Amino acid sequence: MENAKPILLLVRDDRRRPGQWSYQKLTRLEKFKLMSLRSGTFLGLSIFFILVPILHFILVPGALILAIYFGVKALQYQNRLLELTGQCPSCEKPTHEADILFGEQLEFKCPNCSCHLKVLPQ
Ligand SMILES: [Zn+2]
Repeated sequence: MENAKPILLLVRDDRRRPGQWSYQKLTRLEKFKLMSLRSGTFLGLSIFFILVPILHFILVPGALILAIYFGVKALQYQNRLLELTGQCPSCEKPTHEADILFGEQLEFKCPNCSCHLKVLPQ
């Protein structure tokens, strides 16, 4: 793993295990592309829903609200996880994650035991 930095994987009861990760900051263009893709999907759906008789009174505003919601949510992502390896503090099994978008702090579920893991950069 290139440019890997050390981290601690932390569970709720404060048990921790070392690991390493590499991530990249999203550029403005990448953020814009992500927002366009997520909100554009629902904007397209809202146009399609105009053709649905009667139900379009509910479907069109619903799709527009979802387009705004997912667009704003996409703008909150600041980083992309390239790769993370470590050991889950709860089940002690090795964990590997890649390609996760996150904002200030990365949190994810262990694929083995489904416990909530928090990443602390070192
Ligand atoms: Zn686990």
